[in-house]
Amino acid sequence: MRVGVPKETAQGERRVALVPEAVARLSGFEVVVEPGAGTAAGFTDEAYREAGAALGDPWGADVVVKVAKPTAEEAARLREGTVLISFLQPLADREGIERLAGRGVVAFAMESIPRITRAQAMDALSSQATVSGYKATLIAAERLPKFFPLLMTAAGTVAPAKVVVLGAGVAGLQAIATARRLGAVVAGFDVRPAVREQVESLGATFLDLGVRGEETAAGYAAELTAEQQAEQQRALEERLPDYDAVITTALVPGRPAPKLIPAAAVAAMRPGSVIVDLAAEAGGNCELTVPGEEVVRQGVTIVGLANLPSTMPNHASQLYARNVTALLQHLAPNGELELDWTDEITAGTCVTRQEEVAA
Ligand code: NAD
Repeated sequence: MRVGVPKETAQGERRVALVPEAVARLSGFEVVVEPGAGTAAGFTDEAYREAGAALGDPWGADVVVKVAKPTAEEAARLREGTVLISFLQPLADREGIERLAGRGVVAFAMESIPRITRAQAMDALSSQATVSGYKATLIAAERLPKFFPLLMTAAGTVAPAKVVVLGAGVAGLQAIATARRLGAVVAGFDVRPAVREQVESLGATFLDLGVRGEETAAGYAAELTAEQQAEQQRALEERLPDYDAVITTALVPGRPAPKLIPAAAVAAMRPGSVIVDLAAEAGGNCELTVPGEEVVRQGVTIVGLANLPSTMPNHASQLYARNVTALLQHLAPNGELELDWTDEITAGTCVTRQEEVAA
């Protein structure tokens, strides 16, 4: 079975779907890598060759593995019956999914990997959220005109920065852990009550806003009611001025990002404070976030940069490649595709089966 690894073409995308180490571990598969596919992530063509890959046109392979969803031109290069493994935004990009179905592609969306223990090694949302959470804290630390840690110097004592992380899923917990390592005083908040213990286990305090949401069977937060949302905004407007940096990661699958921080809450923060909004691509958790940009509003720096994993392409690709490899080995356990549609991972991750859009 041939696996093709194209060079990513989306603007700013520096990751690659398989790294040389993963190619070497895929024994029993032939891997064709487009020349230059790993360059932006620090992996040379030579390294792929040494790992056993051929360099060439990846689009005719039996399985094509990507990071970003294919453009219309890329989709047109996929043969009927090709298996595609990629992020595909199945909930947000129906047009793209229908285009793949129309081409007769069997597409597996990395966003749709079920969050069950058996599939943990394939969970790319988690691996990339880990990168985003870490990077968000570094950005906050870099933009803040203050130290994160407590310092005792001959010139006096510097108080540690106060950081709050809103939304403590995979990215939020990593942001909390990173801010703690840098010595900040950290608080975390989430609407899922189960998260309190996880926040506290990282040495942060749980910020009690008096708002409690529901957790779905899949482990995600359910959207808050309008009253709960208003209550949350009111509570945050009161509490945020205490903090130097705010990192927000709140998401509800398939919905616009919940608006946690109204403009009035930004106005109430001290000048020089920083908000890093990891939900920017889904519309942002802060009312004043400009997706894809960094802006200053009321003296507060609001960072809405997109695709943070791509800013750490080497490790982000390494982790993503492990997720892709685990899925490939699941779909083709003996080096050939054996698609078992009664299997929860195979059926749950597949978004188009030949002409059909899967439910
Ligand atoms: P996510 O990216 O969908 O959302 C990020 C966080 O935002 C979540 O913790 C969510 O509860 C929170 N949130 C939503 N609305 C909010 C609001 N109004 N205010 C504050 N916070 C809000 O979530 P995620 O990081 O992908 O993780 C979701 C869950 O799945 C977590 O419990 C995580 O531990 C779990 N998980 C399980 C597995 C597994 O078992 N294999 C793997 C990964 C994640």
